[in-house]
Amino acid sequence: MVDLKGQYQDIKHSVDNAIQKVIDETSFINGPKVKEFQTNLENYLGVKHVIPCANGTDALQIAMMGVGLKPGDEVITADFTFAATVEVIALLGLTPVLVDVDPNNFNIDIECIKKAITPKTRAIVPVHLFGQCADMEAILKIAKDNNLFVIEDNAQAIGASYSFSDGSKAKAGTLGDVASTSFFPSKNLGCYGDGGAIFTNDDDLAHTIRGIVNHGMYKRYHHDVVGVNSRLDSIQAAVLDAKLPKLDSYNQARRNAAKKYNTAFRIHPNLVIPKSGTDCDNICDNCDCHVFHQYTLKLKNGDRDGLVAHLNAKGIPCGVYYPIPLHQQKAYKSKRYDEADFKVTNQLSKEVFSLPMHTELEDNQIDYIVNTIKEYLG
Ligand SMILES: *Cc1c(COP(=O)(O)O)cnc(C)c1O
Repeated sequence: MVDLKGQYQDIKHSVDNAIQKVIDETSFINGPKVKEFQTNLENYLGVKHVIPCANGTDALQIAMMGVGLKPGDEVITADFTFAATVEVIALLGLTPVLVDVDPNNFNIDIECIKKAITPKTRAIVPVHLFGQCADMEAILKIAKDNNLFVIEDNAQAIGASYSFSDGSKAKAGTLGDVASTSFFPSKNLGCYGDGGAIFTNDDDLAHTIRGIVNHGMYKRYHHDVVGVNSRLDSIQAAVLDAKLPKLDSYNQARRNAAKKYNTAFRIHPNLVIPKSGTDCDNICDNCDCHVFHQYTLKLKNGDRDGLVAHLNAKGIPCGVYYPIPLHQQKAYKSKRYDEADFKVTNQLSKEVFSLPMHTELEDNQIDYIVNTIKEYLG
């Protein structure tokens, strides 16, 4: 699905030097490189505070701890996402409230959020799925009207922009009260191990979170709150800092590949190409609303699993994100859910499949993938 080796060849010099420098300085934990990367990412995103941590799942958990959510609080999130999102809600003793998603952009459905709000609701966690922001303008309004926190799970959309109806723009992960991201190797900005970060524009919240990631410590050996140990190590920060200047061109390379896939599949009677932007299926050249963490199609009235098996047999990595809706997972089943409320996720889990998507995809590879699919589907 990704070609990390090809990408490395191009940045080998700067990555190797940056890693060597960390080793020479033996500044493996909390070294200067971590601070440098933090500052560079703050500038790139246009956000006041980036707090690095160990991975994207921790980032989400720490963000929830930071805003002070308490056991029993209800947190609304999408039924169609990676399990990490609901997992940390449950781990903190909060009550996950899964809701259905929009069939076109796969993101949390606004009307479903409204219906799910109760007096116990304290937060909404939109996941910017596959590289595209949820409908943040509507979500921020609901949150304001109902006094809720907005915690963005931005593991899949780093570098994407969101446009408000007044024409203003901001980067994914800087829109809500706080956001989390992951630097897992296959993410759009990936390191060579585990990594994550929390973003916020709120000075007080940033201070609280800086303590939480460090054992709840604000003054050495004074533990004011229950914290965790969650750090980004200096070698990972060095890799990320070498890659950050390339992020926009990496995301553009993904969009170029998506454009070619779109052109190939747009008129196929059974395939539905991913929608990007508010009202277009075209990916305009300057449009950075979608960074294609995944290129995800729907196969209508067909044998999705047969197609995926065929592609795999032909040497084409092809994934299904996500094959089982979270509300049907054993760990997250609840009497509060009614199958009738999950028509979209139930359908998507049967229809979606994701094609290889990375920064090094070549035209001949795309042609091979496209032709293999067209031959199979007829
Ligand atoms: C990858 C991912 C995470 C978790 O990130 P890790 O760094 O693997 O812990 C959380 N949420 C979403 C939507 C993700 O895609």
